Amino acid sequence: MSTIAVTGAASGIGAAVCRHLEAAGHTLIRVDLRDADVNADLSSAAGRQAAVEQTLSACNNRLDAVVACAGVGVTAPSVGLIVGVNYFGVSEYLDGLEDALAASGNGKAVIIGSVAGSHMVATPHPMAAAMLEGDEAKAYQLAEESANPSAAYAASKYAVTVFGRRKSVEWGKRGMRLNIIAPGAVETPLHKASLDDARFGEAVKNFVAPMGRAGVPDEIADGVDFLLSDQSAFVNGSVLFIDGGMDAMVRANTF
Ligand code: NAD
Repeated sequence: MSTIAVTGAASGIGAAVCRHLEAAGHTLIRVDLRDADVNADLSSAAGRQAAVEQTLSACNNRLDAVVACAGVGVTAPSVGLIVGVNYFGVSEYLDGLEDALAASGNGKAVIIGSVAGSHMVATPHPMAAAMLEGDEAKAYQLAEESANPSAAYAASKYAVTVFGRRKSVEWGKRGMRLNIIAPGAVETPLHKASLDDARFGEAVKNFVAPMGRAGVPDEIADGVDFLLSDQSAFVNGSVLFIDGGMDAMVRANTF
């Protein structure tokens, strides 16, 4: 059985991922703001460093997998927070654990991105470029200046997907795998907060997948199960859309 770190473990998709992995007999290191094995704030450099150090200590520097679920949505208290958690909270945490994942022989990771990330493929926002350059201060400043949580969310998910795909090339050469899941709307507290928000509620309600419903967290956890299993041994650098057909609806000709 494996030792697996899951960020955002306390709620929504992360909690479902933990239920699945625990039921399969894996040992979990739950990471979240509170009530977890590792309590850390992934929005700050210090918090991310603490999360890495505590995770390394909990796994004795040998880790089989990471599932990076922690994220904030468009109702986050500040636009900059979207950049800090959704991009740097994933990229720096994974970078810090890379050697521990290599030590397991065939480390794996899954990043929970979003179908929103593909909305920015044609013309990425400059804040996405700043994230990919590792310039957190600039990305944060551009995000705050934009005052546009939807753009920051899409940029963060685009950038974290590109980060994951670039890393998968390096990781593949080390016998490791990194894939991204891009969920559509999923019934979680994050989604409910958007639906209930006066600014975004109407748009979120009207953006419905061809299958006519939102997903549930277990459907995303099913994808994680597959991407961490031997059944996906040759799957690396992929973006798995679990979105009821939303991405196909928006951009059928681009893949
Ligand atoms: P959620 O709000 O239910 O869970 C998110 C978790 O992340 C929470 O437990 C929260 O405490 C944790 N978190 C937030 N900020 C943190 C921080 N600074 N440090 C540590 N932990 C932090 O939301 P969810 O819907 O389960 O979201 C999980 C992931 O799925 C996110 O990355 C989100 O962007 C992505 N996603 C969600 C949907 C959706 O419709 N729900 C769609 C696409 C992508």
